[in-house]
Amino acid sequence: MALSPLLAALVLLGSGQQPSPAVWGVAVLEAGTSRDARQEQLAVRDCLELMGIPFAATRSVEQAVRRPLVVISGILTNSLFTAGEREALYAYVERGGVVLATQVQGGSFFTLFGITGATTSRTNFRVNFGSSTDPILRYLNRPEERTISLGDPALYRETVWSTEYTAAPGTDVLAVYPNGTAAVTVNAYGRGSAYALGLGFKETTLIPQLARSFEAARHWINWFEPSGDVFRLMLRALYENTVHPFVLVHTVPLGKRTGLCLSHDVDAAESFRNALVFARMERGLGVRSTFFVTTKYFTDSTDIGYYSPERVSFIRALRAQGFEVGSHSVSHSLAFEDFPPGSPQVDLSDYDPARSTIYGEVRVSKQLLDRDLRQRTVGFRSGYLRFPDDLLEVLEQSDYLFDSSVSAQWVLTNFPFFGFRRRSLGSPRSRIVEVPVTLDDSRGELRIREFLTAASEEEALRTWLDVIRANAENNAISCLLIHPTDTTFKLETERRLIQAVRGDSTWIGAVGELAKFWRDRARLHPVVRLGVNDQPVIVLANLKRASVPSAQSLVVETLPGKAVLRVVDAAGGTVPVRQRASGDRTVLLLGAH
Ligand SMILES: [Zn+2]
Repeated sequence: MALSPLLAALVLLGSGQQPSPAVWGVAVLEAGTSRDARQEQLAVRDCLELMGIPFAATRSVEQAVRRPLVVISGILTNSLFTAGEREALYAYVERGGVVLATQVQGGSFFTLFGITGATTSRTNFRVNFGSSTDPILRYLNRPEERTISLGDPALYRETVWSTEYTAAPGTDVLAVYPNGTAAVTVNAYGRGSAYALGLGFKETTLIPQLARSFEAARHWINWFEPSGDVFRLMLRALYENTVHPFVLVHTVPLGKRTGLCLSHDVDAAESFRNALVFARMERGLGVRSTFFVTTKYFTDSTDIGYYSPERVSFIRALRAQGFEVGSHSVSHSLAFEDFPPGSPQVDLSDYDPARSTIYGEVRVSKQLLDRDLRQRTVGFRSGYLRFPDDLLEVLEQSDYLFDSSVSAQWVLTNFPFFGFRRRSLGSPRSRIVEVPVTLDDSRGELRIREFLTAASEEEALRTWLDVIRANAENNAISCLLIHPTDTTFKLETERRLIQAVRGDSTWIGAVGELAKFWRDRARLHPVVRLGVNDQPVIVLANLKRASVPSAQSLVVETLPGKAVLRVVDAAGGTVPVRQRASGDRTVLLLGAH
């Protein structure tokens, strides 16, 4: 296939390599059909979608090597490809292609990746990135990103599988395990590069999303924990350095640099009236939040039945002011994780809180809120951030759309994601958007030692602002939880936090708004094609101009001397955009006139 001069020039940009691939974008070469391979393929697709990186998945080596970047997803053993396919991969890198593979275990690929040995292990609990300036490490600027956690060695003897490499002379070792063996390498082979990651995306991102990360989180909450995101950010950095012009579906509403979700758990008698005080403060600053309300209508050993008509009237007033109300369960039980799923037919009239079930907690609370607020309740957060194995399946079956029952630290990500129906490998994905909690005044545990007290206000504010800044550097999201049990120092700390971060670069809003943004975002699948005079055009191939969702944006590489790219819909109609320059890239806000 003839290469157009412009595309050739684009391929050359920034890379200093000879052009050879003829098709724009990333190829995911799916290799192998074993259960492990399929799970790795799912994890890679998920990471690319989460980062907003357009890609084409294929099982054909011949198709894959026509693109400037090939991600091999599977476990790279000798038998995975035929000799001819293997030769094609070598030739591709030799003439300038870039390939990234995880778990390179087949000796016939060692020369390509510049390694002389590979062994597997389950005892690597940390990965340390060195001082290399390789472009794949672009986003790993913080100490928490330079040393990451794969599990807690104090609690587990073994953690996720990893592959340890022995690097050949001349191969750049980008990261090592604590025993000094190589965890991430890059080899300049011919005119191209071959990256080898010792960890699969299944191990670093998919298993943690099930909240089964071998307790890798270095803190429970109120800390920047990027141990899973680091691998997604490496994919993004490599894509931005290799595919020109790069286009990303942005991760933050309205094209902002970062997002802050505001949320409150109303789970104590005094919090209902106090909620209105928080709402007034937030309204005064022009922002809205989510109140997760416990509908505890009966008295037990833990508390009175505080969900009373008088208190419901306060929640009704919140709704009238445009605030979002979600469910915070019926009983707010510490034992929620041990509840059986129960019957989906459960009803307020027959629910016995002494014999609690997950369905009961989820459905009866929704029934009460729907009835009393005349709304459709779509958001849930459990008490104490308990996360039963079946929670998301139960929520999905009960007409919910989002959940916020895990800490960002526990799932090792600072991005929202589509959760799995059950917390086990092989479970289908749900349509429930999970928005992890990053910052919490109570530490998320039994409130024995509150994080935010009158005495710790300055320290809490400093910690929270630093986490928000760290997430902003990655275009990630922070979600704040404040219990409205106090209207003095807690209110003041939240007010100061909002005032410190609001402005052009931060989106601030309710959890459900972000979840809706995340669902809409999944519908955008941009590709770059060459238009008139070889001018690149971004095509939103499966959308009509009139149905482009609001608040979405694309982040596009700014090409020197080139006008901003045109965005067109499936029918070729121009999608109106508002553009804003941001360093070496341009943010295109879709649908804005
Ligand atoms: Zn609570």
